[in-house]
Amino acid sequence: MLSDMKQSSSLQKIRRLEERIAALKALLSTLGALHPGSLSKQYNVCGKPGCRCKDPKHPRRHGPYYQLNYVYRGKKTSKFIRPEVLKQVQVELANYKKFRRLSEQWIGLALNLAQAKEKLAA
Ligand SMILES: [Zn+2]
Repeated sequence: MLSDMKQSSSLQKIRRLEERIAALKALLSTLGALHPGSLSKQYNVCGKPGCRCKDPKHPRRHGPYYQLNYVYRGKKTSKFIRPEVLKQVQVELANYKKFRRLSEQWIGLALNLAQAKEKLAA
């Protein structure tokens, strides 16, 4: 049996963990559109003769072109992102990272909570 003091500190710990989980849930509910993956920049060479990208001294390749790579259910996908939606995609990628970070925190807190409850019941 736990002493009353130990029990009360365990209850406090449980309450704190539950509060932090509630705060995380609230934060998660404010997240906007999200998208997994990462962006990479590409510069290309075209086939046109005499184009700036084939200049022998100062070749200037075309681009940047933004490519979005992500994996979903084990399937890798890659697609080009039009410049006019680049900003939006960057926001969605940042939201996804935040989503993952918050979810990880939630899992950690849930494990701590389970442990604290087991201790209390022991
Ligand atoms: Zn070219």
